[in-house]
Amino acid sequence: MIKKEFRAESKRMMEMMINSIYTHKEIFLRELISNASDAIDKIYYKALTDNDMVFNQEDYYIKVTTDMANRTLTITDTGIGMSKEELENNLGVIAKSGSLAFKKENEAKDGHNIIGQFGVGFYAAFMVADVVTVISKALGSNEAFKWESHGADGYTIESCDKNSVGTEIILKIKENTEDDQYDEYLEEYRLRGIIKKYSDFIRFPIKMDVKEQRPKEGVENEFEEVLEEQTVNSMVPIWRKNKNELSTEDYNNFYAEKRYGFDKPLKHIHISADGAVVYNAILFIPENTPFDYYTKEYEKGLELYSNGVLIMEKCSDLLPDYFGFVKGMVDSEDLSLNISRELLQHDRQLTLIAKNIKNKIKSQLLSLLKDERENYEQFFTAFGRQLKFGVYNDYGMNKDTLQDLLMFTSSKEKKLVTLDEYVSRMPEDQKFIYYASGESIDRIEKLPQIELVSDKGYEVLYFTDDIDEFAIKMIMSYKEKEFKSVSSGDLGIETDAEDKPTEEEESDNKELFEAMAGILNNKVKNVKASKRLKTHPVCLSTEGELTIEMEKILKAMPN
Ligand code: ADP
Ligand code: MG
Repeated sequence: MIKKEFRAESKRMMEMMINSIYTHKEIFLRELISNASDAIDKIYYKALTDNDMVFNQEDYYIKVTTDMANRTLTITDTGIGMSKEELENNLGVIAKSGSLAFKKENEAKDGHNIIGQFGVGFYAAFMVADVVTVISKALGSNEAFKWESHGADGYTIESCDKNSVGTEIILKIKENTEDDQYDEYLEEYRLRGIIKKYSDFIRFPIKMDVKEQRPKEGVENEFEEVLEEQTVNSMVPIWRKNKNELSTEDYNNFYAEKRYGFDKPLKHIHISADGAVVYNAILFIPENTPFDYYTKEYEKGLELYSNGVLIMEKCSDLLPDYFGFVKGMVDSEDLSLNISRELLQHDRQLTLIAKNIKNKIKSQLLSLLKDERENYEQFFTAFGRQLKFGVYNDYGMNKDTLQDLLMFTSSKEKKLVTLDEYVSRMPEDQKFIYYASGESIDRIEKLPQIELVSDKGYEVLYFTDDIDEFAIKMIMSYKEKEFKSVSSGDLGIETDAEDKPTEEEESDNKELFEAMAGILNNKVKNVKASKRLKTHPVCLSTEGELTIEMEKILKAMPN
C-alpha cells in the first residue's frame, strides 16, 4: 500500500493560524523582537566558539522605527541574518523553527537564551500588517535578499541591497476598520508600552527614536522637538541579579514600576531555585489589602516569564487561593509552553514551581512572625481573613500549612496571639483552648459565659470574624488541645463536686425552670441550674457542634 501524505490548504491554514492562536494583537511585537533577540544571540554563540570573531556588545541592538506617512513599522536587528534558503525555509514554511534547530545543534553549549521554538511567531505580524517585507543579509554572505508577503497568498524572494549583516522587518500597518484599530501600532508611546510590557528584559538594547522637548538654543522659554535615540528596555532583569547586590529600595522600585500595588511591599522574597526545577522569582507581600481583594473582581496570580519574555500576566496556577495576595513574578527556562506562548499546558514544571513557591511563602511568613512581629501583625490584619478561609476551604486540607500562621485576639491584654503562644502558656490544669464568638470584642467581653473561664485564669480567644469558628472547627485541635467554645454546655472545668448544682437546687426549682421553658415556647431545650455564672443571673449555652454564633451565620447565608 502506498502511504499518502496529508495535504493542507496552506492559505486556509495560515488564516486560521493567524487569527486563532493569539488573543492579543499587540503580541506581534513581542514575537518579532524575540526573533531579533534570538538572531543576535546566535551571533553571540558563534562568537563563543569562533576565535576569529569578536562580539562587541555595543554593535548589537534592535531598533524599532515608524513612518506615519507610509504607515510602516520597522524592526531592525544586527543579528545573524538569513540567507535565501533560510528565508525560504524559516519564513516560507509554517511551523519550521530555525531557532529550535539552532538550539538542538548547539545543545552542548549554553544555548538556552534562545526564545523561539514553534516556528509560528513571525506570522503574528499579519495580525496587524497587510504586507510584511523582510530584508536580510546573513553572516558571512555578500548578498542580501528581500522576502515579501501579503499574507495567505504566498511570498516572493528577490535579491536586494543591504550593507550590514542583519534583518529588517517592515510592516505595512493595516488601516483602521470599524471594529479594529491599527493606528496605535504607529504611535511611539503605545509601542514603547508594548515593549516595556513584554520585552523589557530582552538582553540586548531595544532602541527607539523618542520625541523630546528641548530648550531652543539661544532663545529663552522656547522649546523645540527633537528626536533622540533611547533604549527602551531595562535589559538586565532584577531577578537575575545577585541578592546581595540589591537593596530593599531596589525591590520597592521594582514593585512600583511593575504596578503590583500603590502601597509599599511589606516584605520581598527573592528566590533563585537551582534544584529539580530551575527558576527565579521575586515575590511581594503587600502592605495593604487591595480595595477589591475580598471581591470576585480580584484576580490572584503571578507574572510568568520564559527566558525574560512575558508569557502570562496573571498565572493563577502559581499561587494557592490562600496566598492569593502575593504579588510578583516567576521566570523559568524549563516551561513547556504551548504554541501561542500564552497558555501553558498543565505542566509538571509549573506544578513543581507552585509547590516550591507555596513553601517559600509559608516559611517567609513564619520568619516575619518570628523576627518582625509588628510587620507580621500588620500583614495579618490585612490578609489574615484569607488565611482563615484557607483553613476552612477544601475540607481543611491545608490546615497544616496554615495553622501556625493564624492569630486571634486574646483576652490577655487584648493582643493578637498565635495558637502556639496560647498553648505554650496554658496553665497545667487547663484542658482546652477556649474561645468566645461575637460581633465585637466589647460584646464578647460582656458575655456571662466568659466569667468562669476567666476567673480560672484561663485565656480566651475572641472570635470576631464570621469565619473564625468555622476555621477552628476544621483544625479541631492544636498540639493535642481541643478547642472549646465558652458557651458550650460542658466546659471541662467543673471538676470539683461542689461546682456541680446539687440535686436539691435542681428539684427545688423544677417548677420555675419548667415555667421558664414554657414561656420561651420551646426555643430552648431545657432550663437548669448552673454554677458557671458569677455576676450574671442567666446565660445561654449549647450542646453539640454548632454554637449559637455559627447558627446565626449559617442562617444568614443565602440558600
Ligand atoms: P520561532 O521563533 O518559534 O522559531 P518564528 O515564526 O518566530 O518561529 O520564526 C521562524 C524562524 O525564522 C526562526 O526560527 C528563525 O530561524 C527565523 N527568523 C525569524 N526572524 C528572524 C530574524 N530577525 N533574524 C534571523 N532569523 C529570523
Ligand atoms: Mg519567534
